[in-house]
Amino acid sequence: MCACRCGIRVHLRDGEVRYIDGNPDHPLNKGVICAKGSSGIMKQYSPARLTKPLLRRQGAERGEAQFEEIGWDRAFSILAERLAKIRSTDPKKFALFTGRDQMQALTGLFAKQFGTPNYAAHGGFCSVNMAAGMIYTIGGSFWEFGGPDLDRAKLFVMIGTAEDHHSNPLKIAISKFKRSGGRFVSINPVRTGYSAIADEWVPIRPGTDGALLLALIHELIVQGLYDREFLVRYTNAGQLVNLDEASDDFGLFMRDPEVEYEPGCFDPQDQYWWDRHTNGAVRTHSEGADPFLLGRFAMPDGKPVAPSFQLLVDRVAQYTPEWAAAISGVPAETIRRLAHEMGIMARDGKIELPIAWTDSWGKEHDTVTGNPVAFHAMRGLAAHSNGFQTIRALAVLMTLLGTIDRPGGFRHKAPFPRPIPPCAKPPNSPQAVQPDSPLAGMALGWPADPNDLFVDEDGRPQRIDKAFSWEYPLAVHGLMHNVITNAWRGDPYRIDTLLIFMANMSWNSTMNTMEVRRMLNDRHTEGEQCGEYKIPFLVVCDAFASEMTAFADLVLPDTTYLERHDVMSLLDRPISEFDGPVDSVRIPVLPPSGECKPFQEVLIELGSRLKLPAFVNKDGSRKFRDYPDFIINYETEPGSGIGFLAGWRGKGGERFMHGEPNPNQWEMYARNGCFFKHELPRSYQYMRNWNKGYLHWAQRTRLIRYADPILIHVYSEVLQKFRLAAQGKRPGKRPPEHLKSRIQTYLDPLPFYYEPLESGMTDRQKYPLAAVTQRPMAMYHSWDSQNAWLRQIHAHNHLYINALTARSQGIADGDWVWIESQWGKVRCIALTSEAVEPGTVWTWNAIGKAAGAWNLAPDANESRKGFLLNHLITDELPVGGERVSNSDPVTGQAGWYDVRVRIYKADASEAHESFPQVAPMPALPGTKPERSGVLAYFAGKRK
Ligand code: SF4
Repeated sequence: MCACRCGIRVHLRDGEVRYIDGNPDHPLNKGVICAKGSSGIMKQYSPARLTKPLLRRQGAERGEAQFEEIGWDRAFSILAERLAKIRSTDPKKFALFTGRDQMQALTGLFAKQFGTPNYAAHGGFCSVNMAAGMIYTIGGSFWEFGGPDLDRAKLFVMIGTAEDHHSNPLKIAISKFKRSGGRFVSINPVRTGYSAIADEWVPIRPGTDGALLLALIHELIVQGLYDREFLVRYTNAGQLVNLDEASDDFGLFMRDPEVEYEPGCFDPQDQYWWDRHTNGAVRTHSEGADPFLLGRFAMPDGKPVAPSFQLLVDRVAQYTPEWAAAISGVPAETIRRLAHEMGIMARDGKIELPIAWTDSWGKEHDTVTGNPVAFHAMRGLAAHSNGFQTIRALAVLMTLLGTIDRPGGFRHKAPFPRPIPPCAKPPNSPQAVQPDSPLAGMALGWPADPNDLFVDEDGRPQRIDKAFSWEYPLAVHGLMHNVITNAWRGDPYRIDTLLIFMANMSWNSTMNTMEVRRMLNDRHTEGEQCGEYKIPFLVVCDAFASEMTAFADLVLPDTTYLERHDVMSLLDRPISEFDGPVDSVRIPVLPPSGECKPFQEVLIELGSRLKLPAFVNKDGSRKFRDYPDFIINYETEPGSGIGFLAGWRGKGGERFMHGEPNPNQWEMYARNGCFFKHELPRSYQYMRNWNKGYLHWAQRTRLIRYADPILIHVYSEVLQKFRLAAQGKRPGKRPPEHLKSRIQTYLDPLPFYYEPLESGMTDRQKYPLAAVTQRPMAMYHSWDSQNAWLRQIHAHNHLYINALTARSQGIADGDWVWIESQWGKVRCIALTSEAVEPGTVWTWNAIGKAAGAWNLAPDANESRKGFLLNHLITDELPVGGERVSNSDPVTGQAGWYDVRVRIYKADASEAHESFPQVAPMPALPGTKPERSGVLAYFAGKRK
């Protein structure tokens, strides 16, 4: 049901769902199911289900939710006509943005084929810093793409992770880890969920994790507890950096021009080490050489150089535990103790497995060794405007401990590791968008160089969300949180049609919520378009009557996860395990309700009607009957044998990873519990960044394009190239004047700490507290807050305040309080807690609802007592006379957790009702009224 993608079994009687349990044979959850999963039955029969395509009534305003029912034929002709016109004139005027869906390989394909660059999913407002910070450093990241090896770890450090992130699999792993005597440390401002069962809770102030991580790096170096051998062989720590400030290559690695490398080589290994045996420069990884990690040297031509590790040492010299303690609130002695504990465990707790393997330089190893310190981190680190560099610091810390893709540490999951950065590139010039043509490049990709940016000759952004511009150069997941504001303002240009799939952009998935609602409904007041909406046509596809549907011109009713085929593909976000690739499918157990249609079918139908090349035959006839047929027969390139599913390929299902389409592939998945798993040979299961056998296998199976070793980027040459462009030292693209110092500051090749941008422009005396949210264990974002069973756990949220902080304000449990930032204010109910650090207040996200939304009663607790912290969070910050997104300046990650607030008791005369309130949203046509009385199941009959 949720992004954990556990295997479930759905039991029916007389065509109705009776109960849902976990699939005991599924590799991910092994039969374990959570509250959300087992309550899926009430989601299926929710009164909030949309069942008909709807068109906004003529004369009704957006937001009033006044619709007429229409049929799919009409819905498709409206859409196809409009989109055909856009495609044949200016395809970028169509923008497609999607929420936490699991079909980005398909939505991305549709956007590319349509020819629009304006496509992204939810990553920019979720955790892109985690993906980008880690992938640009170690070639992989947490969650779908890698994680802690808790089977072998002895020390587990979780930092900035919500209370049930990666729910069932991580719960199973932590329970096993604790039973086998592992020590679990949780670093988090809040102690709930996982943190509540940690052996040690280290409270930390939000947005200061980077300071803590850099101080841990400082201490590991001071205490001499880093893994020198690992750094030398598997990272760029020993490689020599050009320190000649006058040189155009200042800050880049010195490279040997004599090296001949094969065409298509990704990382030619032409850098230098300074060899301690010969006291001279030698090619990196030269046989018998042993590089200095510390020191400063001069090349034969006199050029000053130093190993990149020396530059890291210089950088972190300032980041003492005392310095970090003052910022983070974590005592200096705790930081020293944790660094010592991590370093000693990594050094003295070594694991050795009798697994022979060969590294990329041909050296044969008899064993695989590991340092059993594992980390897990997520959005608490990521959702800050300093998150990218914080996560770089985490990846460097893990590297210093020698824990990358080794037993007991971090381990990759296929298709990762990937080259740094991965090969897909965004378009790099306005010419990439042409009428009636697919986009030249992928809508989302991984810039390796300033020339990969998607800007025009004057450096202006070319995407509606300004991703891959000089403002957010490595915005690898786009900036969905800026689309509405930018489209409303016409900056960088106006669009025509915005299609939002499964994202509640007028409520809990947007910053500056009330203003964004106004923008959605705002019209031109002068000029040719006077009277027309500033965002001309808004299409919303969702399974439920969310707040967002109220603003749609056209509503497309989606199916639930029980009513459609789905794939968790290796082309997207599979469910791979440490020991090999795994993908899985959903097979519908129920027919679509009412006139619901899976969004995938909508895309395939539109792709066929618009004659997008991938969806039609040469003669223009439809290529795929439906989505299941597409999944079987689509190949990434004709004849490549690579498709969405890796299992049972080949005519008779005899092949895997690649092979001809198999007409019976769905049935074969169904017979195998809906998943395919390939266990790698043991010699391929570790050290995959530099494992010759694995890399060649991954290249043959097209998981990666190159088989060169993926050295860890302790020092990021990619980032330095952007800085050089800002200094006017590189040929090609250069940032406009007003963004030069932004690039120069934030695209630093070494991790560093800076205060989150918003904190830096807030009066900390007036707004002394940080305010953060997390989603509750029992609900998956807003999707579950209409679920009758789960509403019994949470029907409204509270603001949790440390007891001491509350007392200092005269606030007691159950008091109505105001929480106020410089951007807005919210009235809510307070609860005091010892499980939150004193400088932070927090609440659950997405429980507070707009009145009447999700077909809840207008006076339901969700809207009268529940509240949304988003009203306090701005979408833009004033910077140097301009307004920039409230986001990380490297990746565009939304800075959700940077807001500063103050709290005070509401006056006794004020209404006992949360603030702000909006006019109740009426029930949409096709939804069923909420039942009065008990909604329950008895012997197969719904009562
Ligand atoms: S964690 Fe998510 S996928 Fe797993 S059982 Fe719960 S709802 Fe379903």
